[in-house]
Parts: sequence; C-alpha cells; structure tokens
Amino acid sequence: MLSRRVSHIKPAPTLALSAKVNQLKSQGLDVIGFGAGEPDFDTPEFIKEACIKALKEGKTKYSPSGGIPPLRQALAEKLLKENNVEYKPSEIVVTAGAKMALYLVFSAILDEGDEVLLPSPYWVTYPEQILLCGAKPVEIKLKEENGFILRAEDIEPYITNRTKALVLNSPSNPTGAVVPEEEIKKIAELCLSKNVFIISDECYEAFVYDGEKFVSPASLSKEVREITFTVNAFSKTYSMTGWRVGYVACPERFAKVIEDLNSQTISNATTFAQYGALEALKNPDAKTFVQTMRSAFEKRRDLAYNLLKDIPNISVVKPKGAFYIFPNLSYYSSKLGSDLALAEFLLEKGKVAGVPGSAFGREGYLRLSYCLSEDTIKEGIERLKNALALLE
Ligand code: PLP
Repeated sequence: MLSRRVSHIKPAPTLALSAKVNQLKSQGLDVIGFGAGEPDFDTPEFIKEACIKALKEGKTKYSPSGGIPPLRQALAEKLLKENNVEYKPSEIVVTAGAKMALYLVFSAILDEGDEVLLPSPYWVTYPEQILLCGAKPVEIKLKEENGFILRAEDIEPYITNRTKALVLNSPSNPTGAVVPEEEIKKIAELCLSKNVFIISDECYEAFVYDGEKFVSPASLSKEVREITFTVNAFSKTYSMTGWRVGYVACPERFAKVIEDLNSQTISNATTFAQYGALEALKNPDAKTFVQTMRSAFEKRRDLAYNLLKDIPNISVVKPKGAFYIFPNLSYYSSKLGSDLALAEFLLEKGKVAGVPGSAFGREGYLRLSYCLSEDTIKEGIERLKNALALLE
C-alpha cells in the first residue's frame, strides 16, 4: 500500500504534455508544441565551459549542503545589487532548482492542517507540494477582468487562524501577470499584520515587459524581509532548466533548517552545475544574453497576443511578464465539455498543443508558452484558429 501522503499525487501536466508532443514528433507528426515551460535558447557557451572546467578540475564530489561558498557569496551580491535585499551567504541555500527550494520551504514551515493562500490560476506544482506537506491550499480566484493581478483586498477574506503563508508568483506562470509595486506593498503590509509568511517565487524576474518594474517583496522593509522566503533559479533566466540549480534566501534561522533538509534529502545541488551557475552570475556577457532573450520574448508576446485577440469568441489578457499567454477559450471548451477535451481536440485536429487551464486551477483556458520562433508562433496560432473554427 502506498502512503496516504502520495495517494493524491499527479504527474506535472506540463511535463507530461511536453513528453506527449515529443513522442508525436518522433513518430514523424508535425506538431507545434506551445507546452514547454522553458526558453528555446541554448545555455550560453561560457556557462557550459565553466561547468566543463569544473568537471575537468575534479569538482565531482559532494559539496556543502548550502551550496558552494563562492556561489552563495555571488548570490548575496546579486540579491543586493539587483533586488535591493541584503542577505548574508549563510541566509542563502542553493537547491536542485526552484521546485526543490519551494518544497523545502513548505516542508520547513507547514504543519498538518495549516493553510496556504494560493492565488489561482497557479503554477501546477504549488498545490501538490502543499498537500504533500499535509497542509491545505486555499485558492484565491484572480479575475480575468483585473488582468489576473493579485490585490491585497482579494486576500484578506481568506485569512484564518490556520493561514501560514501566501504564495506570490509575479510574473506569473501561467498568466504572465505582474503585480505592481504599490500592490506588493499592500500585500506585504497585510501579511505582516496577520503573521503570514510570503513565499515569493521570482523565477521569471528577468522577463518583464512594457517597462513594468519587478519588485522583490523582501526589499520593502526589514520587517517584510523577516517573513519572506525569496525563491529563484537559474532555470529560466539563463536557460538552464536541465541544470537543476535554484536557491532560497531567507532569515538565517530558516535557512539553517532548509540547509539541513537539503543535506538529508539531496545532499547538495550538483557540484559542477553550481560552477556553471556561478559563471552565469559573474560573466558580464550573461547580462547581454538575458537581454537578448527578454527582447525576443517581448516581441513574441506581442505577436502571440495580437494574433490571439483576433480569433472570434475568445478573450485574452496581454501578459506583462514571463513567457506564457493564457487565452480564455471557454466558448469552445464548453462545446466539448472540458478544456482537457479541447486540448486533445486541438492536438488531434490542429496538430497544436497547449496545456489546459484546469491544470492551473482554471477551467476553460489554455496556457500557451511562446518560447518558439516567430514563424512557428504564427503557424501555431493559425492552426489553433482553424481548429477552433471547426467548432463554430
Ligand atoms: N516556479 C515557477 C512559477 C515555475 O514556472 C517553474 C517552472 O516551470 C518553477 C518554479 C520551477 O523551476 P525550476 O526548474 O528551477 O525547478
């Protein structure tokens, strides 16, 4: 018998979709996949070289559970310079990607029956990890007409004496919504006044458009810093999803526990991969690389948005960040009974793949990742449009 803890667990639907698209492609089918949650750029050569150098130098052994010291130091410098938050290296724990960082944070703070506020639509992994820790995800439904932006006033009614934490993911996966600074301040004040931790997932900080400003809640004040777990990774920013290097920064007493959890689970994030991550922070060319990706994604975002908004009977919010767009296809999905049925229909009839909104807690939508060339985006949305027309 399996444990009760894992009885509900589902595979990550986004990864499952990518696997399905790859399988169809390997059978020779011409499928356009809008499913992948990762940049289509390769990891820069200088990052790979630094990792290869580390391997050749024999950096192939266990390393400290909190992360290799130069990387923790470089992260402290990055957080101060780019995010305006002062963390000591001992307050930063290097993890196997942001996903593991989040799991360790939830494990460190959640008890059976605790509640975690989860704005929805949410990234698929949050509710699963919260449940695995014995706690309860409490959904805060964000409205499409508000651009899916979280507001303090939406949170307040959901706070109870079991509320332990709020998950803040701005820019958001799947909506691309960016919470403005003024609203982040209000949310942080509310969390402070109600003793609620903020888990700030900043994985998409590098991808913010239209001159919007990215704000780390921990930068707002010393008090907010005390209640915040700042989670981030190299995965999206430097196109290093397969490297599995992420981190969490938080007050020392929490960081120590998270480091111990790391040591009792994975020991350390892969040693030589951490040297690649270090190069990403140190090499000035990395900035140019990130800028190139950001500009490419902003152009693709414009393209995808402009094409989608002209499809009859759908509505779509223009995303301000990340690399996803989340059109409302409920007019069409209701004809087939569910967005899952619609996604299958689109794959079969249109040879185009997106992730159903229900995976993110919002039935009737489809998440499209625009990490594809402009020509592929054009072709893919044309296919989507033509397949949807079959349902008119
Ligand atoms: N957080 C969000 C919001 C994500 O979208 C993802 C990946 O899709 C992650 C965390 C996981 O990042 P990593 O690959 O570093 O574990």
